[in-house]
Amino acid sequence: MELAAASKSRSIAEIQQAIAAGVKVVAENYVQEAGEKFKAIGRQVKWHFIGHLQRNKVKRAIDIFDMIESVDSWEIAAAIDKACAAEEKKMLVLVEVNCAREKQKSGVFPEDVERLIEQIHRLSNIKVMGLMTLGPFLQNTEQLRPYFRETQRTFEAIKSLGLAGVEMRYLSMGMSDSYRVALQEGANLVRIGSAIFGKRST
Ligand SMILES: *Cc1c(COP(=O)(O)O)cnc(C)c1O
Repeated sequence: MELAAASKSRSIAEIQQAIAAGVKVVAENYVQEAGEKFKAIGRQVKWHFIGHLQRNKVKRAIDIFDMIESVDSWEIAAAIDKACAAEEKKMLVLVEVNCAREKQKSGVFPEDVERLIEQIHRLSNIKVMGLMTLGPFLQNTEQLRPYFRETQRTFEAIKSLGLAGVEMRYLSMGMSDSYRVALQEGANLVRIGSAIFGKRST
């Protein structure tokens, strides 16, 4: 299991403390905020992007992040690929799944994940490394189990396709209140914020 410290709205000092305590991966939601932190912290940790990526932020994002966990359209994948080609980079990406098919949420519906990965796996400056999902906000995290389970099934189904250049290594599911259920359902990358840094004030 790998842990990403979800550090949106946390200070550089708080993140440095977490790194001193052993955090190896920092996950940020906003490119600009990450950029400021990255300037101070640099490559002593891996940087994951877990927010909604806008096209006009792609160029900056690829200079900071080691992995983009939130690819959810052909358009954004193609933009990342193009920007990486210009810099002779290859970006590791996860496809974000909207596992509960919520209208207001980003991410690809489970039934569309395979089609998107079949489209993007030929892009030579992107490497698909797995799936990420957020899941609905539910008080009772036990109710997340069927959504995590379906995402895990989707993950395995894509793995079994054996697409060239696709390495289904990461299943990123679970946050501070849901990581236990997520791990039971096959997550191997969890994104933890408040359980590391304390409750968010904003
Ligand atoms: C904030 C955030 C997390 C962590 O949430 P906590 O409840 O603070 O653990 C995980 N994933 C994403 C995408 C987030 O935005």
